[in-house]
Amino acid sequence: NAFDQGVAWLDGHFVPLSEARISVFDHGFTRSDATYDVAHVYRRRVFRLDRHIARFMRSLKSLRFEIPFDSDGLRALLLEAVRQTALDDAWIMMICTRGRPPFGSRDIRLCRNNLIVCVVPFIWLATPAQREAGLTATVSTLVRIPPHSVDPRVKNFHWLDFVRSIFEAQERGSDLAFLCGEDGRVTEGAGFNVFMVKGGEVLTPADGVLEGITRASVLDICADEGVPARVAVFDAAALRAADEIFVTTTSGGIVPVVRLDDRPIGDGRPGPVTRKLNEIYWRRHESAPWSEPIDI
Ligand code: PMP
Repeated sequence: NAFDQGVAWLDGHFVPLSEARISVFDHGFTRSDATYDVAHVYRRRVFRLDRHIARFMRSLKSLRFEIPFDSDGLRALLLEAVRQTALDDAWIMMICTRGRPPFGSRDIRLCRNNLIVCVVPFIWLATPAQREAGLTATVSTLVRIPPHSVDPRVKNFHWLDFVRSIFEAQERGSDLAFLCGEDGRVTEGAGFNVFMVKGGEVLTPADGVLEGITRASVLDICADEGVPARVAVFDAAALRAADEIFVTTTSGGIVPVVRLDDRPIGDGRPGPVTRKLNEIYWRRHESAPWSEPIDI
C-alpha cells in the first residue's frame, strides 16, 4: 500500500505524505496563519469525529478561513483518507492555511486558503511503560500566550511558548510542562489539558484552554458515573497539593502524572480515580456513540 506511511489530501488529490507540498510563502508557514484539528483512529474505530469536525469548523469561522466543504463533505473526505491508508491506529489531521497573496501583494484577502488532510500512523504522547507508571511534570516559568491575544479555544500553531516549555522541562529532567497564565492560573501544556483530583473531586481549568475533546469526554464520564467533577480556577500551589494529576489528549487519552517539580503526587503512582477514568475511557472507545468503525 503506497499510503501506509501516511496519506495527504491537498488540491483535490491524495498523495503519499512524503510527496505533499505547499509553498514556502504560504502564510501558514511564515506567519502561523493557520488552524487545525487532530482526531484519531484506534483499532479501526474513529473517535468522536463529529466533535472534532465541529471544533474545526468553529476555528475556521473564527479566523475567516474558507474551505470547499461543509461538515458532511469534510467527514466523507476524512473517512476516505483513513481508508486509503488502511491503518488500524492513526492520527487524522485537518489543517487550513491562509495560502499566499499574489507576488507583490500583502493583502490577506487575496489569499486562496489551503485545506490539507493528513492521515498518519498514531503518535502517542507517552510510551506504554510511561502510561503505566505515569509521567513527570514541571510548572513552567513561561507564561501561556494570553487568551485575549491568541484564543486557545481556536486550535493554532502559536506553539513557541509550548516549545520553550518543552526544552525547559527536558533541562529539568521532566517529561511535561504545565503553563500558567499571567494571573497564575494553571492553563494547559503542549498538546494536552490538565486535570487534578482533590478530595475525590475532579477539577480542570475552566477557561484559557483548548476545549479538548478528551477533556469533554472525561467530564462526560464523570457525570455518567457519579464522580464529582467541575471546571475551576486553580493555581500551581493547588496543583502541587493534588491527590492525583493527569493530562488528556487525542494522542493517548488519559495519562497519569506522578511527580510535579521533583515531589511525588499522592504516593507517586497513578491514583485510583485516574485509573478508573482511563479504564472507562478505553471501554467507551470500543462502541457507539463515542466511536464508529472504519469499513474498508
Ligand atoms: N490543549 C492543546 C493546546 C492541544 O493542542 C491539545 C491537543 N489537541 C489539547 C489541549 C487536547 O485536546 P484533545 O483532547 O481534543 O486532543
